[in-house]
Amino acid sequence: MDGLLGTGRRLLPDSLNLVARCKTQWQCGRFYCNVRAKKLVSQHFQSVNLREDSLASQESKPGEMTCKSQRLMLLAGLICPSSPGCYHYMPYTVRAMEKLIKVIDQEMLAIGGQKINMPALCSAKLWKASGRWKLMGKELLQLTDRHSQEYCLGPTHEEAITDLIASQGSLAYKQLPLLLYQITRKFRDEPKPCFGLLRGREFYMKDMYTFDASKEAALQTYALVCKAYCRIFNRLGLQIVKVQAATGSIGGTMSHEFQLPSDIGEDQLMMCVNCDFSANVETIHQGETHCPACKGELVKRKGIEVGHTFFLGTKYSSVFNASVHTPQNTTVPAEMGCYGLGVSRILAASIEVLSTENAIHWPNLIAPYHICLIPPKKGSKEEKGAVLLEDLYDSIVQAIPHVEEEMVLDDRTQLTIGKRLKDAKKLGYPYVIIGGKGVLDEPYQFEVQNQNTGEILFLSKEAIIDLLSKLPK
Ligand code: ATP
Ligand code: MG
Repeated sequence: MDGLLGTGRRLLPDSLNLVARCKTQWQCGRFYCNVRAKKLVSQHFQSVNLREDSLASQESKPGEMTCKSQRLMLLAGLICPSSPGCYHYMPYTVRAMEKLIKVIDQEMLAIGGQKINMPALCSAKLWKASGRWKLMGKELLQLTDRHSQEYCLGPTHEEAITDLIASQGSLAYKQLPLLLYQITRKFRDEPKPCFGLLRGREFYMKDMYTFDASKEAALQTYALVCKAYCRIFNRLGLQIVKVQAATGSIGGTMSHEFQLPSDIGEDQLMMCVNCDFSANVETIHQGETHCPACKGELVKRKGIEVGHTFFLGTKYSSVFNASVHTPQNTTVPAEMGCYGLGVSRILAASIEVLSTENAIHWPNLIAPYHICLIPPKKGSKEEKGAVLLEDLYDSIVQAIPHVEEEMVLDDRTQLTIGKRLKDAKKLGYPYVIIGGKGVLDEPYQFEVQNQNTGEILFLSKEAIIDLLSKLPK
């Protein structure tokens, strides 16, 4: 604590110019120091592509498979390539992902989920016991420690969680259903990592594992989690299709994928034109052209798999001895389900399906920032409008404090408004507020652009505050 306070004191003189520049209010008490600065685009650590002096290009390499979301994310400097299938997530992307995680957490907590965090380093012993050390083969990123013990970097955690549950003795029936989940990095040595965050070798997954005493109870839990997944995608405004799917190397007896229809999707879907039936083509008999449920015509669509649920039964619990104490005082292997959501894939997939060729459109709930203010160019005839825009910023913060966290000021006034607007489109702020020609009018007005709908309004300060106060918190 001492150290922190010491650092705080040392920082004070250096912050003075920032304070002066931003006309910041600040207080320095005995135990804390509260500096409120405007969020200035010039100070953000982001994209070389957004720097005026940069000719550097973050575009994908020749010959690499690419897609719209990858191109847009690279161009906006939201991600920077590190090694094949691995990216640095820049601050705007981390903000978006944290918002996405918040939505997921809310929906998981609402169905009784409890969040845990398991090591990425997984002992080979467990994977050999389940038979998946061989089955997953080269997709497992394997390593050996200094004591010659073998490990893999977890691509999923069925073995780890089932072993954890087994180590705690039998689960009491009062604890059931037990829903445990984590949101962590996963590692898969994909043969062809591609499409940016859509198919990486290192990516974020939310994985949930559920435990019940009977098959009936487990199927109810399965339906509960699937509903929560639908709510997540609904809140994001993503039109998801839930399809029957193959169980692959995870196993189990029933599985569904949550697919986002898109031409760059790597999965082939068959969807009935009459009813709700949709399936991954892998689960359909060769040559089948009609719906098994209503005999309606099946049409083909490509999809991006953003979530995958499995009813596992006792496949893992019987291997690792994860058991449940029943009300009848018997002990039975736990009936399990596992449920994956591709967190980083959802970020990229939503950009893929919502954006135009030149402008990112985020789901509103996860846009890194909601509002970007663009003051006039230095030396332009509108220059005196700069103070009006600063005043607008302060008035918004005062009237609707929660918006402060969501607002940035593009202070790169050496650049034209047009150039900064282009960058704002690249980054996908839902609202851009420009101090353009209208700042010279009597009474003065700002230009407000809704990037998602294309709507442009000319509004007074008061009208803008009114508009922004209606944004969901
Ligand atoms: P795919 O068929 O796309 O390889 P999978 O069936 O192997 O996916 P699961 O094992 O079910 O995927 O993993 C759960 C979720 O994790 C998937 O639905 C997907 O959204 C995400 N995911 C899987 N592999 C990747 C990857 N390489 N990069 C990013 N996200 C991934
Ligand atoms: Mg896979």
